[in-house]
Amino acid sequence: MTTSNANFKSAVFLSEIGSDHLPLFHFPLLAQFNDLLHFITTRQGGCSDPPFSSFNLASHVGDREEHVLKNRDKLAKALGISAKHFFFNHQEHGTNILLINHNQKAGLDNDKNSTDVIPASDALVTDQKNVCLLIFVADCVPILLFDYRKKIIGLVHAGWKGTVGLISQKTVQFMQSHYGSQGQDILCAIGPSIGPCCYQIGMDVLVKVRESFPQEEHHLICYASHLKKHYFNLWQANIIQLLKAGIPEKNIALAELCTSCHSDQFFSSRKEQGLTGRFAAGIMLR
Ligand SMILES: [Zn+2]
Repeated sequence: MTTSNANFKSAVFLSEIGSDHLPLFHFPLLAQFNDLLHFITTRQGGCSDPPFSSFNLASHVGDREEHVLKNRDKLAKALGISAKHFFFNHQEHGTNILLINHNQKAGLDNDKNSTDVIPASDALVTDQKNVCLLIFVADCVPILLFDYRKKIIGLVHAGWKGTVGLISQKTVQFMQSHYGSQGQDILCAIGPSIGPCCYQIGMDVLVKVRESFPQEEHHLICYASHLKKHYFNLWQANIIQLLKAGIPEKNIALAELCTSCHSDQFFSSRKEQGLTGRFAAGIMLR
């Protein structure tokens, strides 16, 4: 069930969009579809001050609200959509999956804050057009899902808790049970996040990894004996889940960009000791 990262379509490409030349990453795997909008933001191009400099998109990290809203407006403008079409929810490192249906979309269109009454979730799924799903990350793994046949999108936030809780696998299974999606029709893109090079874990996490991946532990944990430290491969742990849910290997793209190694381009909570901004992964059906 495990396989070498080298087999995956690894490329992401960087574009500078809109009159402001906002830098965004995209996956060729998903960019081939005209009816799909997707992107990964960087930390560049915004107005937030350190330690949120500069394109922080999350309001829960201590940044000034007006800066966050200005950055979101800039993103919307660059994408050619309204910031009203962004849909994000409170993330709690759990495994709740939120289905955004017609009613919630109607709430968006009426400019109501529909997220107020919705329980926290770390995965979003919808078949509704013009709902731009967003998740905010700084080391956690963003996973974009697209059933190109049935036109269903999903977006997953997988830190270590979500990963050992099998949130990627559960989200694909939800798409299969709720919409009848077939694994072969679902494309998956794994965005920039902390890599196996930098993600050192303690015994508490190691125990959970062993519980959730008893057969694959040796693929997921690297022990650096000279440092006496364990490193966890979050990317591979999510790839294993996607394969188990029936997604063919050829449908999975991995950015292979470590946020801690590239903290000039991305926010990294680990690198910046928890005080930093959040970049976003986004996906929308047109
Ligand atoms: Zn790294």
